[in-house]
Amino acid sequence: MSARLLLGAPLVQDRELSIRARVQDLASHGVVPTLAIVDATGQEAAARFARAKVRMCEKLGLSARTCRLPSSGSGGELLETLASLSQNPEVHGILLENPMPEAYRGLDAVTRIVPAKDVEGLHPFNLGHLLSGTGEFIPTTAAACLELLHHYEIPITGRQAVVVGRSSVVGRPVALLLLAQDATVTICHSRTKDLAHHTRQADILVVAAGHPGLVKAGMVKPGAVVLDVGMNFTEQGKALGDVETEGNLEVASAWTPTLGGIGPVTTILLLENVVRAAEKTVGT
Ligand code: NAP
Repeated sequence: MSARLLLGAPLVQDRELSIRARVQDLASHGVVPTLAIVDATGQEAAARFARAKVRMCEKLGLSARTCRLPSSGSGGELLETLASLSQNPEVHGILLENPMPEAYRGLDAVTRIVPAKDVEGLHPFNLGHLLSGTGEFIPTTAAACLELLHHYEIPITGRQAVVVGRSSVVGRPVALLLLAQDATVTICHSRTKDLAHHTRQADILVVAAGHPGLVKAGMVKPGAVVLDVGMNFTEQGKALGDVETEGNLEVASAWTPTLGGIGPVTTILLLENVVRAAEKTVGT
């Protein structure tokens, strides 16, 4: 058996058409959906991701602006920027690039984004709605995982899902979304004992740990669907997932490639959220 690749492109193409149409409709109201990207990470990888999002916005007729801020200091400028963008009627969505530098982790900066512009769904208000199943904005990477499963008609109900990682950005929300679709869900983290025991139970294995090759050969159940969210870069700039392909790809039934899988779907869902946020301002 060789795993079927779960590519994001077919899904993205469909969404692009609908976004373009909605952007045109907004133009008739004199509104250009606008995304503000706030990058205080100080990391080149984040800057690269930000540029890719800007390009995608431009391609589909949205406007995007990037605010690059220092990654050290008191964080006052970061908080002021987020508050000011929250008040700015020309900005419909705000994205705070991850990872937050160590110095800012205690600031809870995401809470300075007004929930109506929290297009990544990471404000506690939106995370709370995710818990109750009534969410407007769902964390986009987690939503992308579910979109891919639906697009490729992979059954979820009654299946054993194992999620490695428990961040608010990916692990926890994806576990909640799988639970809401009637999977039986196990969440693993850095203190989990015998990770391999858990991953080998998974019909659907989602790995979002940020550790290249964490899931080694033999840790994937034959026939499993693997959503490898991990995005790690070598010094040479090569992208590596969290799951070793050798010894696993052969036994899995389906697999998201590190590039061209979850990432593009995450971006398109983000843009869709910006459009939705803009539509709300004109009541369409
Ligand atoms: P994060 O905030 O660092 O969280 C990592 C999680 O993995 C934590 O819950 C951690 O456990 C767990 N973990 C770390 N080492 C582990 C181990 N040895 N065994 C089991 N669990 C372990 O990272 P994140 O923001 O969730 O992102 C995770 C990865 O996804 C990163 O590579 C990131 O670049 C990638 N990502 C990709 C996309 C995309 O669009 N493709 C989007 C977002 C993120 P503890 O909680 O115990 O520390």
